[in-house]
Amino acid sequence: MADVSEFKLFRSAAGLGLRALRNFKKGESLLEYTGRKLHRDRAAPRPNRYLFELNDPWMIDGSPRTNLARYINHSCDPNAQAVHHEDEDRIFIEALRPISVGDEITYNYGDEYVDEFIRPVGCKCSKCLNGQAVPPQAAAPGRAADAPRAANDGGPKAGRRARRAG
Ligand SMILES: [Zn+2]
Repeated sequence: MADVSEFKLFRSAAGLGLRALRNFKKGESLLEYTGRKLHRDRAAPRPNRYLFELNDPWMIDGSPRTNLARYINHSCDPNAQAVHHEDEDRIFIEALRPISVGDEITYNYGDEYVDEFIRPVGCKCSKCLNGQAVPPQAAAPGRAADAPRAANDGGPKAGRRARRAG
C-alpha cells in the first residue's frame, strides 16, 4: 500500500480533495479508509458524512483527520474504488485505472449517499461540472429508501458504500 506522503491535499470545487504525488498502477492499493468501527445505532447523532458502511449495522467512522482517505472526493467517473475486504473487515481505496502524478483521486460514494448528500446540492465532480450528468434534483417524496429509517431518528442516514472484494 502507498504511503500517506504520496498524496497531497488541495482545494477542489467540492472542498478539500486529494491528489496523487506519484503514478499508480491499475489495481494498486492507495489508502485504507480508517476509523473506529461503530454500530449504526451508536453512531454519532450529528450529521457525519464520513461514515462508511461495512456489513449492516456496522460502520466505520472515518471522521478523524488522520484518516487521509476521508478527503477523497466523490466522482461519477472515478479513477479509484473503495473495496471492502470482508475477511479483515477493512476498506481500501484501490486504483480503477492508472493514476498519474497530479491527478485527483476519486471514488464513487454509492447511490444512497449521493441521493442523500450530493444530489440535493448538485454534484461537483469534473464529469458533472462538464455537464455530462443529470442536474441536481429534489429527492422524490415517499421513496422506499426513506421509509424504514423514520423510526431511527437522529441516526446516520446513509454511509459511503464499498464494493466487496472477490
Ligand atoms: Zn458527479
